[in-house]
Amino acid sequence: MKVTSSEIVISAVKPDQYPEGDLPEFALAGRSNVGKSSFINKMLNRRGLARISSKPGKTQTLNFYIINEILHFVDVPGYGYAKVSKKEREAWGKMIETYLTKREQLKAVVLIIDVRHQPTSDDVMMYDFLKHYHIPCVVVATKADKIPKSKWQKHVKVVKETLELDADDQLILFSSETGKGKEEAWAALKSYMN
Ligand code: GDP
Repeated sequence: MKVTSSEIVISAVKPDQYPEGDLPEFALAGRSNVGKSSFINKMLNRRGLARISSKPGKTQTLNFYIINEILHFVDVPGYGYAKVSKKEREAWGKMIETYLTKREQLKAVVLIIDVRHQPTSDDVMMYDFLKHYHIPCVVVATKADKIPKSKWQKHVKVVKETLELDADDQLILFSSETGKGKEEAWAALKSYMN
C-alpha cells in the first residue's frame, strides 16, 4: 500500500477517549523492545512517528494513528518489561483487555515477535488471549535480517509450533532494516478491511 498520510490522533487510556467513527483498526502488540515502533515506522515510511523506545515499558497509553484517512493503527504498550511494578502491570492488563474485547472497529491484532528467539511465555499468553476472544491475528516475526536466510524456515517453524498458530492466522517474516515483508504485511491487513 502506498502510504500518503499518517498522523497521531490521540493517546488514549479509556474508551471514551478512543476516536469515533468506523474506520477499520489494527492493534500492534509485542514485548517491549521487540521492534514494534520500528515496524510501525517502516510500514508508514516514517522515521520518528512511533517513538523508538529508549525506555522500554514506559508508554502506557494506546496511541491511535490515522493512515491515508482510511484506517487506524493502535500502538499498544509493550509487555514483559521486568522493571514494571505489579500495579502498573495490572493497569496495563485492564486497559488492553478493555480495548481488545470491546472495540468493534478492531479487525485484527498484529502480534510482533522476534524471529531469532522462541516466543516467550508472555507472547504465548497474548496469542492465547486473542484466540480466546476470537480476535484474528497476524504474526509478524521481525528482525529477520539478524539471522541468515538459510535459517529462516527453521525459526518460523519454532514460532508456529510454540504459539500453536491457527491455520487462519498468517505469519510474516519481516525486517525493519531491509523492508522485507512490508508489502506482505499490508496485503494481510487489507484482507481484513472489507
Ligand atoms: P519497541 O520497544 O518494540 O518499539 O522496539 P524498537 O522499535 O524501539 O526497537 C528496539 C531495537 O531493535 C532498536 O534498537 C531497533 O533499532 C532494533 N530493531 C527493530 N527492528 C529491527 C529489525 O528489523 N532489524 C534490526 N537489525 N534491528 C531492529
